[in-house]
Amino acid sequence: MTNAATRMTQLPDFPSMFAELQATFETERTRSRAWRVAQLSALETMMSECEQELMDALESDLGKPPQEAWTTEISYIAGEASYSRKRLRRWMKSRRVRTPLLGQPGKSWLQPEPLGVVLIIGAWNYPLQLTLAGLAAALSAGNCAVVKPSELSPATSAVIARRVPQYLDPDCVKVVEGAVPETTALLELAWDHILYTGGGNVGRIVMAAAAKHLTPVTLELGGKSPCVVMPDADLATTARRIAWGKFTNAGQTCIAPDYVLTDAATEAKLVPLIRQAVTEMFGEDPAKSASYGRIVNDRHYERLVAYFASGDVVIGGQADAATRYIAPTVLTGITGDSAVMQEEIFGPVLPVLRIEDLESAIRFIRKGDKPLAAYIFTKNSASEARFLEMVSCGSACVNDTMMFMTVEELPFGGVGASGMGNYSGEHGFRAFSHMKAVMKRGWWPDLAVRYAPFTDKKFKLLRKLR
Ligand code: NAD
Repeated sequence: MTNAATRMTQLPDFPSMFAELQATFETERTRSRAWRVAQLSALETMMSECEQELMDALESDLGKPPQEAWTTEISYIAGEASYSRKRLRRWMKSRRVRTPLLGQPGKSWLQPEPLGVVLIIGAWNYPLQLTLAGLAAALSAGNCAVVKPSELSPATSAVIARRVPQYLDPDCVKVVEGAVPETTALLELAWDHILYTGGGNVGRIVMAAAAKHLTPVTLELGGKSPCVVMPDADLATTARRIAWGKFTNAGQTCIAPDYVLTDAATEAKLVPLIRQAVTEMFGEDPAKSASYGRIVNDRHYERLVAYFASGDVVIGGQADAATRYIAPTVLTGITGDSAVMQEEIFGPVLPVLRIEDLESAIRFIRKGDKPLAAYIFTKNSASEARFLEMVSCGSACVNDTMMFMTVEELPFGGVGASGMGNYSGEHGFRAFSHMKAVMKRGWWPDLAVRYAPFTDKKFKLLRKLR
């Protein structure tokens, strides 16, 4: 037997698990609003009853401070579940649309229906949020689901695997723990939808596997999210908000500002203000701060430390391999060719690049892949409008970083290389629903105009009716 075959035989029987979920879906029990509401409530209960266990797991995986774990993961999921639960009645209703004269008598509507059995593959950086927020969306839309948390955050993955079957309907929701072999085997199945969060390379693997079954995908990917600071910005607030966005979760956030673009004079004022903001948030030695996280594993630690050589370290630069600590670090003297600018940083290293003006910043951003997020700090509404017009990105924020995540009615998702599709709130409900297009005709009158034999008179009338 080959190695691959040996490995495959050790894997759980995913086809049977999948067939069981399909059979459960066929019982129709996930369709009712009562079932969906019960699942969303159970998810909220799980978040409150398992809060400490989840915080401990997030601390173990990423050194996540409890407040950060609560804000960005635990309460985020409870909030998503409760927001959806309260609005489900409205979302599940059919939506009437106009029927043209030619279709009269008749009426037309969009009727949401669940997709079936869906797969949710999460990433490690927000290991709870990126699996269970998607699950909340899938359940709100009435689907059965399999959740595959990231193997790089094993403690959180284990809590999800232990607790989800206790709180949620175990016939409809399964958790599969594991890495590449497990995910590869799961991807062979004919899912009704796949939500994948992670890097673009694996995103391509997921999409190629999905294509074999014509399975639709939502891909939540990453990229280098730019942050433009104009000279007219309130620089103290700007520095604080950039530092917060960049150093939350030790920079391991898909929408963290990846790099700053600003002019030389503004850079000279901004860097000391970022230093001050870092000291205010994490003290003189962030290694001792209970509010600062750690790097997920040695490979990422090594990758990030190597970036120090890309430019001049003007803030931070300390690192400790044993605890995978990397201080909040700012680099200057960076150009588009520097190593740190070649891929998404995904860690607490912030390069500052000099640009002449807004137009050169826009040109710089547009040369790269479309980012997941883009930020501009300015008091000038023309600069703001120009940036929003010309920078294509998943989400944008003016005068802050990452805060659009708190707006439940904004969808979250990328464009181009940063992803496709989106979710959160009603957008999540729609991502996991099919909006079936329905038309119902009345019986009488049955206008003869569209039927053969075609005549000049009918043709004229048809032109008028259009
Ligand atoms: P990761 O290593 O946790 O991988 C993501 C998932 O893919 C995991 O569940 C993993 O098991 C699976 N996987 C890995 N290799 C695979 C393979 N060869 N075949 C099939 N499945 C495989 O996460 P990552 O890729 O390091 O995540 C970081 C990236 O994710 C960054 O680019 C970040 O910007 C992006 N991200 C995006 C979002 C978003 O919402 N758009 C959120 C968080 C992270």
